[in-house]
Amino acid sequence: MENPGLYIHIPFCRRKCAYCAFYSVASFDAGKTASYLQALLAEARWFASHRFHDAKPKIRTVYIGGGTPSILPVSFYSALFEGLESCFDFSGCIEWSFEANPEHLGQAYLSELWKNTPIRRLSIGLQSFRDEDLHVLKRWHTGREAVEAIGMARNAGFKNLSVDLMYGLWQEEGLRHWKENLMKLAELDVPHFSAYALTLEPGTLLWKRVKQGMAHMAPDEEIEEEFKELQAFAKRNGYEHYEISNLARPGFEAVHNSNYWREIPYIGLGASAHSFIGNERSWNVARLEEYVRDPASSKERESLSEEDRYHEYVMTALRTSRGVEKSRLAAFQESFREEFLERAAAEMKKGNMAETEDSYVVRENRRLLTDAIAETFF
Ligand code: SF4
Repeated sequence: MENPGLYIHIPFCRRKCAYCAFYSVASFDAGKTASYLQALLAEARWFASHRFHDAKPKIRTVYIGGGTPSILPVSFYSALFEGLESCFDFSGCIEWSFEANPEHLGQAYLSELWKNTPIRRLSIGLQSFRDEDLHVLKRWHTGREAVEAIGMARNAGFKNLSVDLMYGLWQEEGLRHWKENLMKLAELDVPHFSAYALTLEPGTLLWKRVKQGMAHMAPDEEIEEEFKELQAFAKRNGYEHYEISNLARPGFEAVHNSNYWREIPYIGLGASAHSFIGNERSWNVARLEEYVRDPASSKERESLSEEDRYHEYVMTALRTSRGVEKSRLAAFQESFREEFLERAAAEMKKGNMAETEDSYVVRENRRLLTDAIAETFF
């Protein structure tokens, strides 16, 4: 088995953003975070003893996500990493990533993070540099704070930076606003970014407002234009569009994220976190109190059949520029391979996909349709 990635979920946020359906809670205090820390360590010990037979698994990558990890003091993470040392072997860890929101990133916080933890990659949740967008999305920070956060992160030593941006926010003029955001990104020379189209998730504030007719989603044509602009921007500015929502300058691809589409095992600690080890997928309850009460046994599990693994591989690999690799396909049963080749031939005939020497990929001009193309395989 390849060395696993380690994901740690921090489920605390200041308040819910208008579009967000991730699991997080907005009310917490020092007592709750202290018991959450203990629960994370208890779950880590459980993984080490029950799934790795006390053999201290070597960890390939670490990713602290949320929620809002930067809402907690650096001392939380120093204590967390110190505790995790007794369960896992980090000596070969090649990436330590941390999600942060601009409103928490003061110079002192960033310098402390750099000095007192092994974190060397920051993923900053900006969504936009435009105050009007940030207001609609109900984010806490301003465009100016977003720019300042990038500068302060660099001053503290972080060169491996990523930001999240969102498109498809407006019914009209969206393309002009999106171009402004991309220009700002180019000016700041950030080596990696994620770009997501705004989607409507049931139960969110945005969803309620759209249902009441008080807000409107951007039409498909607008989203298409903005996605094309993203592709053109990437070419002009030296970014590889290596996954449908992720773009990087050479050498800055996110290693941890690629674990998910390369079937590399991962351990997920924390409320709502998912794990994938061997052929088993498990996930923790998305309720803080329940998780803290019994972090090891609040899990649900399922064994993945070869068919499930084949589906998952094709779904995720089609989203990447590398595509579905012939060598990986060869590891699946003959019947899955045949089925794949038959469907891929149909998609190539429609002009949606192409065959390269090593793989099958979604054509660049059809990438926005990736999810719909992937569905035709199942
Ligand atoms: S800060 Fe992130 S996780 Fe928290 S509500 Fe906003 S988008 Fe969701």
